[in-house]
This record gives sequence, structure tokens and C-alpha cells, in this order.
Amino acid sequence: MSPVILWFRRDLRLSDNPALEAALRAGVPVVPVYILDETQAVRAPGAASLWWLDKSLASLQAALEGCGSRLVLRRGPADAVLKDLLAETGARAVYYNALFDPGLAARDQDLARGLKGQGIEVHRFNGGHLLPPDSVRTKVGGAFSVFTPFWRAARAQLTLPAAIPAPTALPAPEVWPRSETLADWKLHPTRPDWSAGFSGWSPGESQAQALLADFVDTRLARYSHDRDRPGVEGTSRLSAHLHFGEISPKACWRAAEGAGFRGAAPDTEVDKFLAELGWREFNAQIANRAGDLAQDNFDPRFDGFGWHEDAAGFEAWCRGQTGYPIVDAGMRQLWTTGWMHNRVRMICASFLTKHLLVDWRRGEQWFWDTLVDADHASNAGNWQWVAGTGADAAPYFRIFSPMAQGTRFDPDGTYIRRWVPELARLPGKLIHAPWLVPSDTLRAAGLRLGTDYPRPVVDHDTARHRALGAYGDLKSKT
Ligand SMILES: Cc1cc2nc3c(=O)[nH]c(=O)nc-3n(C[C@H](O)[C@H](O)[C@H](O)COP(=O)(O)OP(=O)(O)OC[C@H]3O[C@@H](n4cnc5c(N)ncnc54)[C@H](O)[C@@H]3O)c2cc1C
Repeated sequence: MSPVILWFRRDLRLSDNPALEAALRAGVPVVPVYILDETQAVRAPGAASLWWLDKSLASLQAALEGCGSRLVLRRGPADAVLKDLLAETGARAVYYNALFDPGLAARDQDLARGLKGQGIEVHRFNGGHLLPPDSVRTKVGGAFSVFTPFWRAARAQLTLPAAIPAPTALPAPEVWPRSETLADWKLHPTRPDWSAGFSGWSPGESQAQALLADFVDTRLARYSHDRDRPGVEGTSRLSAHLHFGEISPKACWRAAEGAGFRGAAPDTEVDKFLAELGWREFNAQIANRAGDLAQDNFDPRFDGFGWHEDAAGFEAWCRGQTGYPIVDAGMRQLWTTGWMHNRVRMICASFLTKHLLVDWRRGEQWFWDTLVDADHASNAGNWQWVAGTGADAAPYFRIFSPMAQGTRFDPDGTYIRRWVPELARLPGKLIHAPWLVPSDTLRAAGLRLGTDYPRPVVDHDTARHRALGAYGDLKSKT
């Protein structure tokens, strides 16, 4: 009996996996495969993503072995690897869940055309989104550029199917094709191994499910307030699990709604969390129709914008040495743990693009390299939102004050003290603007400004006026 190929991509889970369910329904042996494709069609993942991928694949491998199956690992261009596997196994069908990033979607389309041309069946499913990103349309059939009407339409269109349970067994082929090993792929960093700060993460499906259950039971009820407090564990921390498809957004939706039905969280909190899942959907549909959202301004009026080079400012931003405590705390959290709180992502992105006037693409690339949840659509979409170049973008005159943001969202400085320990002994609100702290207080806190912690790389008021001028010029010309 010839087997079918089940091609895992960003759906590294057994439950709620429509491609897996359909492959099993074929009633023949299933050969699960993961392909590490490093060709130009695929944007090279950053080191933090590869760290996660390594553990996530190990977890999927173990889960498949628990079902009497395996995960075949192959490195190479996806079309060539699949061709080899089809020839080696005699399989006549390939099952996979779709990816919607334009580069990958185009590659998949070519690949599917090629396979079909050779008489191979290709079965494609939506496993990664609440709705396929190209399916939410305005009344006249166009795409949405503004979140609120998009989300209203998406919610009206959405009917959640029942959860698909994880199988307990997968029929194995008589002979397994050769597999490389995860160790061969060297996805975990060595020389140096910089990942000590990543120890708080547990990639994998069962870990994602446990995190979701814990979130809806203990944090969802206060989500809308706590989600904006970087010093509080108030969000789900599911983003990397969602990016790698260890859990489906539909499972997140069901769990949140379930908490609402049980009375564990008020409807308003459930709705707020669902709306954040909605932003993930919105960014996916924006990316799906843009050329390359990580390169091209969604708003082409910005194409001639005079971004500054500012190598020293960019370096200070990357290293968390700007002299603005909330920015530095965020950038250090990112570097150390591969994740940054959403509120602080907005503050840091605003600081780079508005205070320093550095091109948003450079910040997007830095996040791409360092985030465990780096996601083409969500990263580029949010960067463009903050920079003002995106769909439904933040207004250009919104220039976050790092001091006001810090005071409002990290009022007692808990987050700053955690990530910028040299400021830990500064009292209360003074922590948000160390350069304004009287010298005797600095001395008492053991802090030498300019030595232990930098003075601001740019003066806030000067930077604000400069940004308003640059953005204002652009708006007045168009
Ligand atoms: C400049 C910038 C870059 C970003 N880059 C990424 C990225 O590469 N990958 C990524 O997943 N998110 C990105 N985000 C969105 C957001 O910061 C993270 O999704 C969130 O911080 C993840 O933490 P959480 O899982 O605890 O979120 P929760 O608050 O628990 O939200 C639940 C889920 O909703 C989704 N979500 C929440 N907010 C957003 C948002 N604004 N846009 C899209 N999806 C959202 C995520 O999948 C998240 O896991 C970025 C935001 C900014 C401002």
C-alpha cells in the first residue's frame, strides 16, 4: 500500500491539525516529514527562531514516536526533497497546512503545480489561522485596511469546527525513508551558547496546551488591565507556540470562550484576548496581499522618507544602552530571553523610528533575528504600524514619551529594575528619567550617570520636534 506524505511546516502539533486528520483518513501509512529549506524563497530564520525550532521538532518527534510513528528530517530545497521522498516511498499524495507569507505561498503554489503535473495528489488545509487570510472581504469584495471593520467581518464569518483530537496511532510505512538527525542540523547555538536566558521557554505542543490552560484559568480575568503592565505576568506568552503551530488559534479561541462560559473570565476580557488573536489574523491578511511587508512600505508615500543612518544610535538601541530606562529594559529583555512585552515592543519601535528616525526595516530585522516568536506578518505589520507606514497605522504625531509610558505602565519600576539592574536602587518614579535625578540621590543609589548607565543618546524634546517636522513635511507634500 503506497503511503502518503504529511509535510509538517508551521503546524508542529498533533491535535487540531486538519492536514494530519485528512492524511489519516486516507487509510494508508503516513510518512511525516519536516524539511529545513534554506533556499532564497524562504527568509532565513533568526537564531532565536532556530533555537525554538530545534526544541519544537524534538517534542514533535517524541509525540509521533508515542504514536508508533517517526518524523523524517531532511535538509534542502522543499521541491527537491519532496521529489526524492515520493520516489523513495512510492507515495502518491502530499498533505500540508497552508502558509500565507507571500514568498512561501508562491513557492508552495509552484511546488503544488509541479507535483500535480506528475500525477501526485496535493491536499492543502488551513491549520494556522482562524480564517484563511484571503477569505475576509469587504461587501464589495475588497481587502480590509482597517482593523475594526476587518475584525467585525471576520467574527461574523467565523464558525469554529469542533476540535480535532490528537491521534493515538499513525500507521507506519513498511520501510522508513532515511532521516537526518536534529543534532546534524546544529540549530542550538554553540560557541558561544548564548541561550541561558531562554530557559523559561518550553517549546512543544503539550507545553503550549498547559500554558494556555494556565492562562485562561489564572490571567484571562484581568487580561485587559494586566496585558499593558510589563512588570506583571499578564499575557499568555503563547506567541512563539502559535507561530510554530504547536497550538492552533482555534484552540486558543475555544479555551478563552470556554473560560467565559464557565464564568472564569468576564466576556469583555475574553473579547479583548480574542481581538489580539484578531490582530494576528489582520496582519496575516495584510502580508498576504502586500509585495514584501518586511521591505515595502505599505503606504508608498513613505518611499522617499529621509531615514537617518545613525549607526551609534542604532547600536545603543540594540544593546539596551539608549539612556531611556524603559527602552533599555525592553531591548535587554529581548536579547536575554528572545521575547519582549508588547507594550514595550511598541515603545522601543517608536523610539527607533521616531526619536532616532532610523528606518523601521532595520528594527524589524533586529527583532526578526532575536525574537523567538519572529513572524513575518506580525513583525513587519507591527513595525509598519508603529512607524506610521502601515495599514491602519499609528498617527505620525503619536510619538511615545518613554518617560510617560514608563510611568504609566511600569509605575513602580518593577520591570526596569528587573532588566536594568544598575538603576535598581533609584527610588520610585525617578527611575524613568535618571538624568533628572538630583546628584545626592544618584550618589545614594550608587549610580554614576555616564559611567554605570548612559546619558540619553538623544534629548527627548529635540527628538520629538525633529520627528514631527520630518513626518509633518511628508504629510504636507502628499
Ligand atoms: C514592533 C512589534 C513587533 C512585533 N513582532 C511580533 C512577531 O514577530 N511575532 C508575534 O507573534 N507578535 C509580534 N508582535 C505582537 C505582540 O507584541 C506579540 O504577539 C505579543 O507580545 C506576544 O505575547 P503574548 O503571546 O503573551 O501575547 P497575548 O497578549 O497573550 O496575545 C495572544 C496572542 O495574540 C497575538 N497577538 C497579540 N498582539 C498582537 C499584535 N499586535 N499583532 C499580531 N498578533 C498579536 C499573538 O499571537 C499572541 O500570542 C509585535 C509587536 C510589535 C509592537
